[in-house]
Amino acid sequence: MGVANLLVREYSSLDLRFSSALGKSMRRITLNIPGAGCEYQKKTGGCMMCGFHVATNKYSRGKLLPVWIFQLLSILAWKFYAKEKPSELFVYNGGSFWNDREIPRAFQRWLFGYIAFQKSIQRVMVENRCEYITGEKIKEAVTFLGGKELLVGIGLESSNDYLRNIIIKKGLTRKDFERTVKLINDNGARVAAYIFLKPLGLTDEEALEDVISTIKYALSVGVFEINVSCAFIQEKTEMAKAYLAGKFVPPKLNVVVDLISSAKSNNLPVNIGGFDDYPPPIDIPKNCENCSPSFYDLIENFRKNGVLGEIPQCNCRAI
Ligand code: SF4
Ligand SMILES: [Zn+2]
Repeated sequence: MGVANLLVREYSSLDLRFSSALGKSMRRITLNIPGAGCEYQKKTGGCMMCGFHVATNKYSRGKLLPVWIFQLLSILAWKFYAKEKPSELFVYNGGSFWNDREIPRAFQRWLFGYIAFQKSIQRVMVENRCEYITGEKIKEAVTFLGGKELLVGIGLESSNDYLRNIIIKKGLTRKDFERTVKLINDNGARVAAYIFLKPLGLTDEEALEDVISTIKYALSVGVFEINVSCAFIQEKTEMAKAYLAGKFVPPKLNVVVDLISSAKSNNLPVNIGGFDDYPPPIDIPKNCENCSPSFYDLIENFRKNGVLGEIPQCNCRAI
């Protein structure tokens, strides 16, 4: 395999992903670019479940790399996947795309202009903390995209102030979140909110309840689409410490499936994130050994096609 293909495989992937908000499956390029790393994490220690700093240390050593590296990775990924006619591009940088200290300013502009010329792409998602989202950056991106949809991902995690800021340590007020959602909507883009299933200290049932009320809150303030991140354990995080001390386990797959059922029957635009990332998790949501594989298939099928098949019955549920 050539160097170009190795880079493509290391930094990007192509998957079929169902958007519950759009009601259709899209071929998605996921591009993981080596930003300088989340500034909030560097200043405060970051959110309790987040292991992205480990990836940052590996891929950029926390430094702002030159713009051409980001351009090269984007062009290689596009050339590699173009024949599959991908319809969306999701860009992750383990932090905030619009923070000039994490991603070169020139690349922020260049990417949207480059994508504008890729016919099959219908929408682009970049993620950000609220403090880096400005009217100027949204307008600029929307203009460069020339009619393609811009989705801005924001980690809300929970609408409960105590869970969000004391337990998860998100450092985000509801007021700032609401103001930013409005700013994005007013400037011709849409918001995808990330919501966290199972912060430390909650039972599975409490966590499900919190996710459902957070979904309602997010939609009521103008969020377009919800991505639920189910707790998995990454090394060098506060969550990993609690897990290793026997004080926390990721949620059961039953809960994830209950959430999907509830979202489907209430027609809510909810997607479920993968149980994998870098660094590779040391534990993920699971049931018993017998039924977990069927549940993983069921959830993956939902991620791809938006369909929830027959839910496997297993004695472990009662336990
Ligand atoms: S979850 Fe987001 S905001 Fe929190 S530390 Fe990680 S990258 Fe930074
Ligand atoms: Zn089971």
